[in-house]
Amino acid sequence: MTQSAFIDQIKWNGDGLVPAIVQDAASKEVLMLAYMNRESLQKSLDSGETWFWSRSRGELWHKGATSGHTQAIESLRYDCDADTLLVLVRPSGPACHTGAYTCFYRDADGELPAESRPKPDRFAALSGLETTIAQREAERPEGSYTTYLFDKGLDKILKKIGEESAEVIIGGKNGDKQEIRSEAADLIFHLMVLLRQQEIPLDDVLEELEFRHRKPVKKN
Ligand code: AMP
Ligand code: ZN
Ligand code: ZN
Repeated sequence: MTQSAFIDQIKWNGDGLVPAIVQDAASKEVLMLAYMNRESLQKSLDSGETWFWSRSRGELWHKGATSGHTQAIESLRYDCDADTLLVLVRPSGPACHTGAYTCFYRDADGELPAESRPKPDRFAALSGLETTIAQREAERPEGSYTTYLFDKGLDKILKKIGEESAEVIIGGKNGDKQEIRSEAADLIFHLMVLLRQQEIPLDDVLEELEFRHRKPVKKN
């Protein structure tokens, strides 16, 4: 179906609008509901980011224009009777103008307690990072640190893993949570660059972990 054939199928309401449910493609949490008119739907399709019609301001609204928290569209679906859109996105920040990850942070009893609040699926972000690293290796964009690592090659990558491991150890000895957190992130990133360089999918490593998990625990 062409883009214009798709747009022609949509059943606009009396105001020329269609509700669009915005869902996180990774966590599957519903992030917000907003309305699109024909023009904002066209802009969303053309730009790959969400555009809406703001009913309160009466203007086209590029989500993230002021907050910087744009939403990259992974998939744009419509329902059986073509009167509702479902937009699966990779958000670059909170969807809600209050700073909450999703607009749906309350229930009938009030605000949800911190531990049961919906949150991004960080594990899914890991596979997003894997994709980005693979793209850098293939495309080698200038000025990218990942490009630099691939250009330098295996020895450089291994040297960095050694350095980052040492920094995790120092953080651990210092008992400095912030330092451990930051150095662990560096270590995981460089490990993932090595996996890519060696053509080992992250999924293989996760499978390995799962496999071990099923075996009786061996102390060493
Ligand atoms: P933003 O599009 O994120 O740059 O936000 C610009 C303005 O749009 C905010 O100041 C709010 O007035 C409004 N806004 C942003 N996100 C939402 C949302 N999820 N629901 C309703 N209004 C929003
Ligand atoms: Zn419907
Ligand atoms: Zn909100």
